[in-house]
Amino acid sequence: MLNAMTIDVEDWFHVSRFRKKIQVSEWPALESRVEQNVSRILKLLQEYDVKATFFVLAWVAEHCPGVVHAIQDYGHEIGTHGYGHQLIYEQTQEEFDEDLQKSVEILGDISGGKISLYRAPSFSINLKSLWAFKILKKSGIDIDSSFFPVKHDLYGGIQSPSEFFRVPVNGSGTIVECPLATVSMGNKNFPIAGGGYLRMFPLWMIEKGIRAINQSGRAAVIYFHPWELDELQPRVHAGAVDQFLHYNNIDQTEKKLHSLLQKFEFSTLSDVIASTKITKTWPRW
Ligand SMILES: [Zn+2]
Repeated sequence: MLNAMTIDVEDWFHVSRFRKKIQVSEWPALESRVEQNVSRILKLLQEYDVKATFFVLAWVAEHCPGVVHAIQDYGHEIGTHGYGHQLIYEQTQEEFDEDLQKSVEILGDISGGKISLYRAPSFSINLKSLWAFKILKKSGIDIDSSFFPVKHDLYGGIQSPSEFFRVPVNGSGTIVECPLATVSMGNKNFPIAGGGYLRMFPLWMIEKGIRAINQSGRAAVIYFHPWELDELQPRVHAGAVDQFLHYNNIDQTEKKLHSLLQKFEFSTLSDVIASTKITKTWPRW
């Protein structure tokens, strides 16, 4: 069964966890490591002949367009991760509209194609920011992968379906939503999808989770970031919990990805959607 491999392309200083420590105005002066980290990922995926969806932060594309070209040269799919990595529920609708529009234009210009896939910074579409869908549709987005139906300090708290579903956007069709992989136990969802969970949980647990998802007829959507393979990134002093969550097991990420790429079938979100029968619609507005 085909699963989706997705990468959120951003630098170590863009992460929401450090947003109160590093100001946006400081970004241009910080050491960029995203290009070399993306190169590593492209080689890794090539080894297994796997295509993936790269949600590129348009700020990165603007400062380093070669990253977008390299991803395209290897035949992968480009989506947008927005421009300035601001959490949706911390923005007004106008601010989100402007950020998204800018990202679609920059990535469209650099890639030479239409941008129709989106992932919110830190999965920040929640029950209070469902208005984001009408803005996404207006900007030409048809596929979204921003729902993470789990409990977390930055995201989640949403009781959406855990399989792919359609979000109706008043009068202008639907957006296909591809939630990040979760395993349900009792009436709770547990994340096994990647990022910090990929680094924290033992491989057997992650593999068991993906197998359980596939056995229930669903595709697993996996994600990670280029900085999660980078042991040499500059250290941010942000308090013990945030530091643990950001740096924990960074030296294990690549090894674990090798194992998943060997054992499961992966492709782009578009490929996975093409092989998926989507029956659910949510929410009923
Ligand atoms: Zn991000």
